[in-house]
Amino acid sequence: MGMVKSFDRFRRVVVVGAGLAGTATAIRLLRFAREPLQVVLLERRPEYRNSGVAYQREGNHWHHVFNIQAGRMSAFREDVDDFVAWANHEADRSDWPHGWREFEFTESGPAPRRIYQDYLRDRLAEAVREAARGVTLVEADGEAVDIEVRDGRAHVVVEHLALPAGGPGEAREVLEADHVVLATGLETKFPAFAAEVLDHPAFVRNPYSKDGIERVLGVRKDGVVAIIGTLLSAYDSATLLLRQGHEGPIHTRCSNYPRRNCWVTPTKVVRNSSAGSVRNGTGRARRSPVTTPRCRPSW
Ligand SMILES: Cc1cc2nc3c(=O)[nH]c(=O)nc-3n(C[C@H](O)[C@H](O)[C@H](O)COP(=O)(O)OP(=O)(O)OC[C@H]3O[C@@H](n4cnc5c(N)ncnc54)[C@H](O)[C@@H]3O)c2cc1C
Repeated sequence: MGMVKSFDRFRRVVVVGAGLAGTATAIRLLRFAREPLQVVLLERRPEYRNSGVAYQREGNHWHHVFNIQAGRMSAFREDVDDFVAWANHEADRSDWPHGWREFEFTESGPAPRRIYQDYLRDRLAEAVREAARGVTLVEADGEAVDIEVRDGRAHVVVEHLALPAGGPGEAREVLEADHVVLATGLETKFPAFAAEVLDHPAFVRNPYSKDGIERVLGVRKDGVVAIIGTLLSAYDSATLLLRQGHEGPIHTRCSNYPRRNCWVTPTKVVRNSSAGSVRNGTGRARRSPVTTPRCRPSW
């Protein structure tokens, strides 16, 4: 194991996970601390910094919008308009696509999830600038794999710790801390039902990745698609297909999909071992209601 990275002069809080919860915690600590404090914001996937899987850019298409109104996405409960105000007046829209670039965000309307990473990053940078003297932030990459408490201090064991000042770290290092905040979110489940088809080119395991989005966008317009699962990732995938003019049937078991001709079938996943593909069972189909979100830009 590598060296213990300790400190003598200030207190240190290690926040494990730099998604929304970890970033928001760091912002609060930086804003409220009145005595010297070092906040270490540790993230194992650099591309998830200030976003997590929900809002990171590469894994979220511009068609992926918040599942609640934009007016409920402020990071500050004492300033509920903050996100909408940021999106309208502060966000750098130079690389936004036509449709969103001219869009005026409202409290009750939609907003693309991928811009939230910039929002959190801006607010974190602001908190660093405005922090009291001696209150600092260290953004470190690496995965916390263990925590031990010794002499009243936490020893956070980190694999491949990379601090801004140094290059790639040793295999395992230890960060000493007075407090540790676990903001590690949810773990991706292993889809046991799909174990035999995980590597099949027609099976999209992670729709919130660059590769996953490209593969959804690459589906033939008249292709038959089966969506397993019924919540946000299913909605986002169906939206992506339909917004690019998909005409083939999309089989799912939920009724809340944004499509005139969305057929839903009672789902019985059938593994077709000869072709190695996944298809739905053949239950009786019925039409689903249309639930297109209001106030979306159209393009
Ligand atoms: C696709 C999707 C869309 C969503 N959309 C919305 C929405 O529109 N509105 C809404 O309110 N909520 C939405 N949610 C819910 C969303 O998960 C929460 O709002 C919020 O983003 C969760 O934040 P979190 O920080 O708890 O977790 P996460 O965002 O998962 O962040 C956890 C972070 O911890 C890191 N991490 C984990 N373990 C370690 C470790 N051992 N060491 C170092 N780092 C580690 C992970 O890499 C990750 O970056 C959505 C969720 C998903 C999955």
